[in-house]
Amino acid sequence: MTTTRPLPLCGMERGPGMPECPVRKPSTVPYVATWSEELAGSEAMLDVKWDSVGPKLGYKDERASDRVGRDDVLWARMTYQPGAGRPRFDSMHPGRQYVAMRWMKCQICGDTVPRSKDGWLFVDWRKEYDPPTWPEGSVTAMPPLCAAHARLSIVECPHLRNTDFLLLHVRSPRIWGYSGAPYTLTGDGWTVGERDALRPVDDPSLRAVLASRLYRELRNVTVVGSA
Ligand SMILES: [Zn+2]
Repeated sequence: MTTTRPLPLCGMERGPGMPECPVRKPSTVPYVATWSEELAGSEAMLDVKWDSVGPKLGYKDERASDRVGRDDVLWARMTYQPGAGRPRFDSMHPGRQYVAMRWMKCQICGDTVPRSKDGWLFVDWRKEYDPPTWPEGSVTAMPPLCAAHARLSIVECPHLRNTDFLLLHVRSPRIWGYSGAPYTLTGDGWTVGERDALRPVDDPSLRAVLASRLYRELRNVTVVGSA
């Protein structure tokens, strides 16, 4: 287990420096994958909200469902049209990623993954920000897998064929935090540079983050299999 490349599971976790998903088409379009007709929300819809603490990132036509978690994090909007157009295996739909990760649903079929006596199944590979205890303490945006789709991913995902990954049972996959675009309020309104910054829960800067992925920290991990 020596690689430090953050390789995606069928391209579904995409970030700086990550490769496009290739070549061979998997037989199943993952529940969390984006489709080409699904459109991201416009930045023009962002607004400055104020509360007792100060300015806060919001939407002009904000709804209660636009925020998640105890941090009230603003969630990235994307139209919901699974099946419309072509699947984009290199991109996760923000809404479906949240649902799968928050409610422990299989990232491939979207069904609830039951907890076994050993916990839930996750596939993981070493990433730059993982602790030396990896896979214990790994932080991931990739939701769990049902047993059938853990097997399918290992067989079909080109990225997994090219990297050192582990199939894990995780007894305590704790909510860790978010990734998204951290905005800064200037005289001209909100500006943003980075698009994929990691922020833990309770981080005060989450007030100005447009989040698109929920992360869990994998604790009490047992290795089931490896590449
Ligand atoms: Zn499944």
